[in-house]
Amino acid sequence: MVPSITQGYDAIVVGAGLSGGTLAYRLAKRDLRVLVLEHGDFLRLPPWRAGYPIGIHIRSAPARPSVVGGPTKFYGAAMYRMRESDFRAIRHEAGESPAWPITYNDLEPYYCEAEELYRVHGSTEEDPTEPPHSVSYPYPPLPHAPMVSELVDRLRNSGTTVSPMPRALDYGPGGKCVLCSTCDAYYCRLDAKMDADVAALRPALRSGRVDLVTQARCLRILTNENGTKTTGVLMERDGKQETVHANVVAVCAGLGPSAALLLDSRTSRHPAGLGNSTGCVGRYYGGHDTGMVFPLLSFTGKLPPMHTKTFSINTYYNGAPDWPYPMGVIQAAGQVPFWQEEVVPWWKKAPARLVGKRSIFCFFTTEALPTRESGFVFDGERIVGMRPPVRNLNTFKRFRLLAIDLFKRAGYQVVAPHHRSLWHRVGTVRFGMDPETSVLDPNCKVHEIDGLYVVDASVLPSAGAVGTALTIAALALRVGDAITGLSRPSSN
Ligand SMILES: Cc1cc2nc3c(=O)[nH]c(=O)nc-3n(C[C@H](O)[C@H](O)[C@H](O)COP(=O)(O)OP(=O)(O)OC[C@H]3O[C@@H](n4cnc5c(N)ncnc54)[C@H](O)[C@@H]3O)c2cc1C
Ligand code: SF4
Repeated sequence: MVPSITQGYDAIVVGAGLSGGTLAYRLAKRDLRVLVLEHGDFLRLPPWRAGYPIGIHIRSAPARPSVVGGPTKFYGAAMYRMRESDFRAIRHEAGESPAWPITYNDLEPYYCEAEELYRVHGSTEEDPTEPPHSVSYPYPPLPHAPMVSELVDRLRNSGTTVSPMPRALDYGPGGKCVLCSTCDAYYCRLDAKMDADVAALRPALRSGRVDLVTQARCLRILTNENGTKTTGVLMERDGKQETVHANVVAVCAGLGPSAALLLDSRTSRHPAGLGNSTGCVGRYYGGHDTGMVFPLLSFTGKLPPMHTKTFSINTYYNGAPDWPYPMGVIQAAGQVPFWQEEVVPWWKKAPARLVGKRSIFCFFTTEALPTRESGFVFDGERIVGMRPPVRNLNTFKRFRLLAIDLFKRAGYQVVAPHHRSLWHRVGTVRFGMDPETSVLDPNCKVHEIDGLYVVDASVLPSAGAVGTALTIAALALRVGDAITGLSRPSSN
């Protein structure tokens, strides 16, 4: 028998992933009583699956993993600030990346706090594209493994600017991280990866002001009779439906589920779904067009296990001498057995494994552009698919060749398959100034409904080309302040 949830919460947070965990942390710090509803449960893996790279099977799957902490339990913990230009309208080869309703400076103080909360290790000195920091990274960059260090030296000696990758790990004096080889796409058995569960939700729960209910799915967001404000949620757990009331509901269910929840909550006052009077829910879908590149470090034997995810090449973020449009970043991944991915056909698995075991797995990302047309495809009220964002085709091709060339100039043979996928997906519930083209206002509150907020990957109007996790966490802290009526001055 599941006990009934007590009422009397100031806020309900739907989803205990990156944004939900971070927001709950902030609201608890501001003395609010918070209920967090999570569809999944705590991650409990049988011992035989402990070393299993779960993340690669879910990175591009339509259904996100339902666990406390969300996909951050398996993430690579690369925690980048988006670049200043990402907040402005910027011309690409195939269209325009839209302006955000806030500037980099508006988010900067929250980036500092998110870096502290998630223990980000980085350097402001060695990356020419790093935006201004009012406070430096709280921890120094991670050391490179010896073979990675040699690769970085050879890249630098051949004229490439290489930067340390900002990473959220509990590494250093007193820290638990041992810089093992099974990090990116794996879960950390030492709880040393600063995921949303470890870094934000557990401290929130320890405050005594946050209740977490797992295996509880939010079915609908409730609104008052005239549809002007939220009154709580309808949820289901253990086969039973329950209503919980609060004046604030923050939807942090992730890309896809958040938009679907707004649509499923339609009423006679909001017949197209909450926040959807101008038809924006489910639209403006963007992300990172991602390719892979493998500099071969050995022709004979396999490389030893090592932590490889410590460097990136960001100098082509806003273009190259012979290319006026933004390109993106090249970065190291972990020692991920990518050949096990379902998208790799059986006959390619053996050669892919051969290459993967002898090289440093790197990937490059360029922005895929959101448009009014990219996003959900409907059959009546049913979501039946996703229309992809616009690809910068020539940019991607050139960037792939450039990445190959950089490693070749450093003296490596390179394998670079033509395969690409969409990572770090954003949009479908974007925030903006204009209700005609956005679902949320600049504080991530639904334009027409008081007390109803959305904050997660789906609110981002564009993806830039660096990972979006730190930006999602920083936005969640900012939305926490908006909910509690506090606003931090921007950093200029
Ligand atoms: C293998 C892998 C590696 C990655 N590495 C990086 C990286 O290094 N850097 C980076 O920037 N990004 C990385 N990402 C992406 C990053 O993890 C996601 O962008 C981020 O977690 C999205 O956060 P979110 O708050 O939008 O949603 P999520 O973290 O997905 O959280 C949503 C939560 O809501 C719950 N939920 C959904 N619907 C409901 C409902 N109806 N009721 C109750 N609960 C619900 C879900 O179960 C989930 O726990 C990686 C992703 C993967 C899979
Ligand atoms: S111990 Fe390994 S898995 Fe855990 S955070 Fe460190 S590198 Fe990642």
